[in-house]
Amino acid sequence: MSDTARLLGSAVSHWARDPWARGSWSLIGRHATPQDRIALGTPVGQRLRIAGEATHPTRAGMTHGAYEKGVEAAVWAADLGHARVAVVGAGMAGLGAGRTLAERGVQVCVFEARDRIGGRTAGVDVAGGAFDLGANWLQQYDENVLARLAERLGLRTVVTDFADPLVLGGPSIPEGIEDDLRKRLAGAAPDAGLAEVLDDWLGDPAPWTTEQIHRFIDAEIVMDSGAPLSWLSARHGFEPGVGEGDRWIAGGYRLLTGHLAEGLDIRLGHPVHDIRVEAGGVLLNGEFAADAVIVTAPLPVLAAGAVTFAPPLPAPHRAALTRLGAGRVEKVILRFDERFWPEHGYYRVHGPERTSISEWLDATAADGTPTLVGLFAGHWLGTLWTGTDDEIAERAAGIIREATARHGRDRRGE
Ligand SMILES: Cc1cc2nc3c(=O)[nH]c(=O)nc-3n(C[C@H](O)[C@H](O)[C@H](O)COP(=O)(O)OP(=O)(O)OC[C@H]3O[C@@H](n4cnc5c(N)ncnc54)[C@H](O)[C@@H]3O)c2cc1C
Repeated sequence: MSDTARLLGSAVSHWARDPWARGSWSLIGRHATPQDRIALGTPVGQRLRIAGEATHPTRAGMTHGAYEKGVEAAVWAADLGHARVAVVGAGMAGLGAGRTLAERGVQVCVFEARDRIGGRTAGVDVAGGAFDLGANWLQQYDENVLARLAERLGLRTVVTDFADPLVLGGPSIPEGIEDDLRKRLAGAAPDAGLAEVLDDWLGDPAPWTTEQIHRFIDAEIVMDSGAPLSWLSARHGFEPGVGEGDRWIAGGYRLLTGHLAEGLDIRLGHPVHDIRVEAGGVLLNGEFAADAVIVTAPLPVLAAGAVTFAPPLPAPHRAALTRLGAGRVEKVILRFDERFWPEHGYYRVHGPERTSISEWLDATAADGTPTLVGLFAGHWLGTLWTGTDDEIAERAAGIIREATARHGRDRRGE
């Protein structure tokens, strides 16, 4: 069966090379703490504020954290009495800011570099269905403000049980191992990288095997961060997020972003490269004047100097831009004419190399056509992401076909 299922269509992400993302989501490097997120989001005087997922101390790297920070920045600008505010970026933070400002009667203009809204939520049409190449789930569902919006809009959402992935071809991760790691991380030196803690652990792995530890780290840290373990902070790099009742939206995140963008003045294809803060207001690209500006460009985009600030950002903001960073997790959407994988909902595939990790969402429930959404991190990104998108998709399909076949053989005891 796995050899005969035909690929009907596919889509492949390239977040790392996208100039308006430069990575997947923000992370805390070994010389940083959550305080750097707070510093980055602290207003610069009364006319400039950076918002976006990277500025949320507890909900970073997630759409609802981004949205909350956008709303917070908008309330700040409106409370200061600004009548005309510019917003840079039409992702979740920028849309949250724009909508909140408009609701408060503030004139708002959103400048978006790309020719679409949504930022790191990115809807794509694949073989007749709508799926997400960026954010997929509404995480921390019970306390997620966007989940409440999805409910109000009557969107259909589907639960993913992250606690119980089906491991295709290999043992599951034993219980208790995460508690052990969390204790070790809490006791790490302030500047330690996660790799140092891992090395210590592997030197004395009992009661676990080294294989179990590697599998756990690949699944929980490499997959969730997409960053080198030596760069990631031991104390703060393992942030909360995935696995708290998460649900994905049938029809994709664009159902939310489209709603949030309704009626807003959004200028697509308008990258902002220069922001001047003067006594009487702000000037964008030397031509657009406003009373204040809210900047939601992703952290790596700002860190790369894509936007010049005059006067320069204060030292704590600049330090945060260098100490925080972003990892790389990429996605592949594959649609088939028949299903060849077992019914379960969420799958994990390890190997063949150390840190070759992929996880797979069965998104067939979107419209009934057999669909898999693969997330890739670690070793795979060096070997899989070469050539054309069709070649990447075919290779990704080969990985899940092979893992499914291996799983079948294991179950039959072959
Ligand atoms: C593969 C992947 C999977 C993810 N999965 C999830 C998930 O399941 N659940 C979840 O909650 N989160 C997930 N995330 C993270 C989530 O997508 C982000 O945290 C969130 O969308 C960030 O919103 P933002 O507004 O801060 O930034 P962005 O969405 O990046 O928006 C910033 C906007 O600014 C624009 N921009 C950049 N520079 C400029 C400029 N100079 N001038 C004008 N515009 C500019 C960009 O084009 C973009 O539209 C995922 C991300 C990725 C990449």
